[in-house]
Amino acid sequence: MTPAIEVSGLVKIFGDVPVLDGVNLSAPAHQVTCLIGPSGSGKSTLLRCMAMLERQDAGSIQIDGQPLSIAGQHARKGDLRSRIGMVFQQFNLWPHMTALGNVAEALRTVRRQPRRKAEDRAMAELEKVGLAERAHLYPRQLSGGQQQRVAIARALALDPQLMLFDEPTSALDPELTGEVLNVMRRLATSGMSMVVVSHEIGFVASVAGHVAFLDRGKIVVSGSPEEVFAKPRHPRLTQFLETYI
Ligand code: ADP
Ligand code: MG
Repeated sequence: MTPAIEVSGLVKIFGDVPVLDGVNLSAPAHQVTCLIGPSGSGKSTLLRCMAMLERQDAGSIQIDGQPLSIAGQHARKGDLRSRIGMVFQQFNLWPHMTALGNVAEALRTVRRQPRRKAEDRAMAELEKVGLAERAHLYPRQLSGGQQQRVAIARALALDPQLMLFDEPTSALDPELTGEVLNVMRRLATSGMSMVVVSHEIGFVASVAGHVAFLDRGKIVVSGSPEEVFAKPRHPRLTQFLETYI
C-alpha cells in the first residue's frame, strides 16, 4: 500500500547546523507511526517539514504517493496542506472563541462554509471527542485535556487524510493525559494515518505500528515496537529511555 507520508534524505539546516541530517521515514497508511527521541533531536522540525510549515533544504516528501518537490512546494501548498491535520503541544486555540467557535472557524476560513453548516459539523466533531456539553465554553473555562481535545476536533473537522501530533500531552498535568491519549487511540482504531511524537512509551508501545528513534537529526533505530524496544538496544536509545521514561 502507498505510504501515508514518505520522507527521503530530508535535510534541514538552521544557520550552519544540520538539524535534520538525511532523514528517511515511511509512515504506512492507516497506522500510527511514533517518533521518539531526546529534546533537540529534530522531531518538531521533521513534523513541521511534513506539514509544510517549514521548508527543507534537501530531500523529498511524498504524501500519499504524490511528490512534493521543493520547486513545486509553494504552488501546491494550499491543496496538500489542507489534507494534513496538525496538533501541537500548546493547543493554540483562539481565546476569544468558544470551543464550538474554534472548530467552526476553521471550517469557515479554510473551507469557506457558511456559519450554520460549519457549526453543525463542529458540534459533531466535539461530540466525538466527548465535549458536546462544553461546546459553548471558552478555552479558559476548559481543562488542558479538554482544550487539547478541542484542538483535535478542529483538525479532524477539515477531513485530513493524515494527522500529525507533536507531543500532544506534554503540556498537560499527568491526570489529564489519559483522556487525550484515549481520543487518539480511538482515532487510530478508526484507521486514521497518524504520525505522533510522544514520550508516552506505554501509548507508543501499544498503539504504534512503526516506531522511529531520532537522535541528532538522524533516525538511529526504527521498526515495530517489539523490534525497537527489544534488548539488546542501541546504546543511545537505552540512554534516552533511562533519561526520559
Ligand atoms: P525536538 O522537537 O526534537 O526537541 P526541534 O526540532 O524543536 O527538536 O529542534 C531541533 C534543533 O533545531 C534544536 O537544536 C533547536 O534549537 C533547533 N531549531 C529549531 N527550530 C529552529 C529555528 N526556527 N531556528 C533555529 N534553530 C532552530
Ligand atoms: Mg519538539
